[in-house]
Amino acid sequence: RREYHIVVLGAGGVGKSCLTAQFVQNVWIESYDPTIEDSYRKQIEVDVRAICLDLTLQEQSNLPRCGQGFLLVFSITSLSSLNELAELREQIIRIRDDENVPLVIVGNKSDLEEDRAVTRARAFSVSQHWGNAPYYETSARRRANVDEVFVDLCRQIIRK
Ligand code: GDP
Ligand code: MG
Repeated sequence: RREYHIVVLGAGGVGKSCLTAQFVQNVWIESYDPTIEDSYRKQIEVDVRAICLDLTLQEQSNLPRCGQGFLLVFSITSLSSLNELAELREQIIRIRDDENVPLVIVGNKSDLEEDRAVTRARAFSVSQHWGNAPYYETSARRRANVDEVFVDLCRQIIRK
């Protein structure tokens, strides 16, 4: 089994813990201790390859840890949470010394359409600006598109 290290990044409150717990454990838990930088392991298969994922969740305050792939998570209900990702991406590129580091942009809380503050067009323009990094909208609450973001990231790492 190949082992891949994935770092889940984004502002506090965007849903990193909920999203990752849904992916790893198939559970919805309303609240996690925001001060804990959780980590998880999960074994999955992607395109017939057996992979062991080592997932680190990181708050935005520290320099991003080194990983092979990054999920950059914001909430579609908060424009500032999207804007904060730009600086994180810069830091990742600096640390990895690679413009084409595997990453996925995740707009979480898609179930809160009535509170949407970031249009799809806005998010797609960020994605284009970042060399067409894939953009997904997810709902950790409804478990929508959750597996897809992790699988997309694994495929990018495999292609590297
Ligand atoms: P983190 O700080 O990024 O780890 O965020 P959490 O995973 O702790 O989630 C922060 C808050 O957002 C909690 O109150 C969650 O219940 C809520 N939340 C997370 N994901 C979703 C989602 O997809 N939809 C909705 N409606 N709420 C969410
Ligand atoms: Mg958290």
